[in-house]
Amino acid sequence: MKGNRTLTIIKPDAVSKNVAGAILKQIQEAGFKIIAMKQTKMSPAQAGKFYFIHRERPFYGVLCDFMSSGEIVPAILEKENAVEDFRKLIGATNPANAEAGTIRKLYAESIDKNAIHGSDSDENAIIEGSFFFSELERS
Ligand code: ADP
Ligand code: MG
Repeated sequence: MKGNRTLTIIKPDAVSKNVAGAILKQIQEAGFKIIAMKQTKMSPAQAGKFYFIHRERPFYGVLCDFMSSGEIVPAILEKENAVEDFRKLIGATNPANAEAGTIRKLYAESIDKNAIHGSDSDENAIIEGSFFFSELERS
């Protein structure tokens, strides 16, 4: 059975442009319920831990610097088939390849400053949700 939760992060580029509210509205209108949410900022080391899976990729350093460069809005979202449906809503990693109407097409500037994160599997959704939120906040 597919899980019903995913973890998103509205990234520093989108938060600094003051479009977090518009993005959250689009997420809610697509049927996702916000279970937990906060605005916070990661240190480079915390960003490195969150993206540890990408440590061998050439963009890892740039990614960790960017993700710790400003305020972010992580949130746990709930909907049937959450992971897959949310990936559809946000669009391709590179906004140049993202479909019209997707969050990345609307708000991302480039492949590295791409406005929003979405978990890529049910397993990672649980790990990522636990990274940002306590057991109390997740229930
Ligand atoms: P996604 O966020 O769509 O799941 P990945 O998991 O492959 O994409 O990559 C994680 C993040 O790393 C991307 O959202 C993007 O911010 C950054 N990234 C991916 N590929 C590149 C790249 N070629 N150059 C710079 N940044 C990249
Ligand atoms: Mg990913």
